[in-house]
Amino acid sequence: MIHGSPYEPFLPDGGRDLPGSGLLHVVVAGGGIAGLTTALALHAAGFDRVTVVESSRESRSVGAGLNLLPPAVRELDALGLLPRLEAGALRTRELRYYHRSGGLIFREPRGLGAGYRWPQLSIHRAHLQEVLAEAVRERLGAAALVTGVRVTRVEPLPDGRPRVQLEHRDGARRGRASLEPDVLVGADGIRSAVRAALNPGEGSPPWNGQLVWRGVSRMPARAVGSFMIIAGDDRQKAVVYPMLRSGNDVVVNWALARPADARDEECRGDWNRPVPVETFLHHYEGWEFDGVSVPEVLRAADTAHEYPMVDREPLDRWSHGRTTLIGDAAHAMYPVGSNGATQSVVDARALAHALALHRDPAEALAAYERDRRPATTALQLANRRLGPEVVIDLAHERAPHGFTDIHEVIPAAELAAIAARYAATGACEPTAVNQGSPYTVPLGALP
Ligand SMILES: Cc1cc2nc3c(=O)[nH]c(=O)nc-3n(C[C@H](O)[C@H](O)[C@H](O)COP(=O)(O)OP(=O)(O)OC[C@H]3O[C@@H](n4cnc5c(N)ncnc54)[C@H](O)[C@@H]3O)c2cc1C
Repeated sequence: MIHGSPYEPFLPDGGRDLPGSGLLHVVVAGGGIAGLTTALALHAAGFDRVTVVESSRESRSVGAGLNLLPPAVRELDALGLLPRLEAGALRTRELRYYHRSGGLIFREPRGLGAGYRWPQLSIHRAHLQEVLAEAVRERLGAAALVTGVRVTRVEPLPDGRPRVQLEHRDGARRGRASLEPDVLVGADGIRSAVRAALNPGEGSPPWNGQLVWRGVSRMPARAVGSFMIIAGDDRQKAVVYPMLRSGNDVVVNWALARPADARDEECRGDWNRPVPVETFLHHYEGWEFDGVSVPEVLRAADTAHEYPMVDREPLDRWSHGRTTLIGDAAHAMYPVGSNGATQSVVDARALAHALALHRDPAEALAAYERDRRPATTALQLANRRLGPEVVIDLAHERAPHGFTDIHEVIPAAELAAIAARYAATGACEPTAVNQGSPYTVPLGALP
């Protein structure tokens, strides 16, 4: 199974005899949200020969917070993870969009209050990843998650299986090996090596000229309210929401976006660079929404991280024989609408379901792609048009200096239609979600 020269011991048992029932061996490139959920979904569907290969030494827990929409929470609940996730998260009960002058544009209940059977969760990425990684180790064994090993190349073998080249670095020591699994899942994020192997020449993710700053602040609960804020104008935006209660304090996630200045051009290639809050704080002075002061939130942060706002062009094809893509590797989208991680979780369950129901793995991967690619492509394109946040741009366009009654600017029906259209694009309407998971594999279904 493994070919190393010389033999390198960084994979479990050298990959020679992966434990399991003799079913497919699936290698997952990348141990982020998509990759770890894929391993858990495969296990729930009856597959136990799964190897997640993660390039970071520790399962990666960088980043700030994110919101998981009910379709993802439903799938994580089906995997038995909801209590553990909720222990380190807050339910998102309301979302409010504001004009930068302070006027409320639109508010909508979220999660249970909006009629879903599952909540929407505001959660720190580190907590989500820890819960997923811990469950992978418990259920599939510690050897199922291999860290500090990078996928460097992928090529098809004559029998249709992929050969996956791996590299392990430990200081100056470097080891190389290859695996020849039955199926390869590229869950290695927006700069995916698996995607690059399937789409040579695609290049770097395109940048739209905006910068994003993200961070986490700890503050007294009374300073931040209990709702999620998305505010701004046609140029710059701010997102602020509490994601964890800690005594009388809350841990608050925030993300800001605005066009890069000429001096920022140098950041273009940089992905996750720490910067002082003072770099951008002045752009948000005076931003206050129903008593929540954005500058106060920013000043309470230890560090901020800066990213270029990038996504990926939708692909015509994810699956090539026995190799496919999932999560950001398949459909990285701009971070509006809370759909990136949400859709990655749904992908993972859909993929495991398809592999359980089809005898031929290549047919399974094609079926998975038929199920998931249309909706995620539509979301990628919708997010380029600002997704549901377009209400902020509309309000600014029609009332640049603010308003006394938003409904004189944007009729209530128009606001509701924008939110409903976006929810339908992501198959996130309560009626669709509440039918339950379509991805639970019936007992004895494995081919
Ligand atoms: C500002 C911002 C806010 C966001 N907010 C939300 C939100 O509220 N809700 C939401 O649903 N989504 C949100 N997202 C999107 C979400 O973060 C991503 O969609 C999600 O993390 C994708 O998960 P992934 O596992 O596909 O990719 P990643 O999280 O990028 O994980 C990929 C993993 O693969 C590893 N890797 C990379 N290359 C290799 C290799 N060659 N070999 C082995 N391993 C490799 C990486 O180390 C990493 O661990 C947001 C994104 C941003 C930037």
